[in-house]
Amino acid sequence: MNAHDRALTGQNSLFEEVDFSSVEYMLERSTLRTLEPGETLLQPEVANYHLYLILEGELRVHLMGQETLEHASLVAGECTGEISLVDGQNPSALVVASKTTRVLAVPHDTVWSLVDQSHEVARNLLAIIAGRMRNDNSALITSHSKRAQYEHQATVDALTGVHNRRWMNDAFPRVLARCALDHVSSAIMVIDIDHFKHVNDSYGHLIGDVALKMLANIMQAHLRPHDLLVRYGGEEFAILLPDTGIEEARSIAERLRATVADNEVRKGELAFKITISIGIAPVGNGGKLEEYFGEADRALYRAKESGRNRVVVAD
Ligand code: GH3
Ligand code: MG
Ligand code: MG
Repeated sequence: MNAHDRALTGQNSLFEEVDFSSVEYMLERSTLRTLEPGETLLQPEVANYHLYLILEGELRVHLMGQETLEHASLVAGECTGEISLVDGQNPSALVVASKTTRVLAVPHDTVWSLVDQSHEVARNLLAIIAGRMRNDNSALITSHSKRAQYEHQATVDALTGVHNRRWMNDAFPRVLARCALDHVSSAIMVIDIDHFKHVNDSYGHLIGDVALKMLANIMQAHLRPHDLLVRYGGEEFAILLPDTGIEEARSIAERLRATVADNEVRKGELAFKITISIGIAPVGNGGKLEEYFGEADRALYRAKESGRNRVVVAD
């Protein structure tokens, strides 16, 4: 090993606070290795018998395979292969050179001799392993919270913050089945804004969006905790009211309709009112969601036909 490489080796985190000249002779059986960009150093399928001290270049660590997102990168002064050194198993990750990289491959028994010889080397090795565990934990936490975030995004409508159709198709049938089991009657409501095209045409699509948000807020404020609200279409909402008789559903709908009609949509100087029409159908004798939905939708159609801004209950 030339003086330059000796100096680089002495700077490795494994030798921090270590009198390097006193342990250097033990590295005689270590070998220098140069990796080309893209070359694999460690992979989970292949047993590893070395600890690699990085002298120059950069290694990328991929937890499951090269296609997966990069987990970490390692540079000069760091090392890799320490997990298989300690547990004697295959590498836990795929490690690939991202540029031309030079490493010193130290055989496992040499590392253990170094550990026997020097408390500092032992302590440094523990610190390296602890650092890896910390990194892996925070990567786990990040990926877990990202997944929760994606799942949330997939079931919630970004504009209004209420659940979307996808969520409805999953949640409504489950609640219906539960109601059928418990022999409780429930109701489903479909809500559609009246002449909403006119709102968009008069004030623009962005103001239309403000109206949609206001409507969603009013509905959310009116519902009980167990009621299920979804935006299942552009300006169409549905509410499943578990354990609710048809007359109670009608009065909830009527209150909702009146509140929307009374409130102004406001944006800057602009203020105007919208109205909604509501169709309601009773739910609860073991039928399918689509049937009840269809009945509520036909009631909504009648509400529209008979003048809008009104509530109609299915026959
Ligand atoms: P009706 O009283 O018969 O319901 O009349 P309408 O004009 O509301 O008719 P319809 O329900 O068929 O029209 C829906 C309109 O809603 C058409 C579309 O431009 C608008 N729309 C749908 N999604 C959105 C949205 O996300 N934002 C805005 N601003 N408008 C939307
Ligand atoms: Mg519509
Ligand atoms: Mg409409």
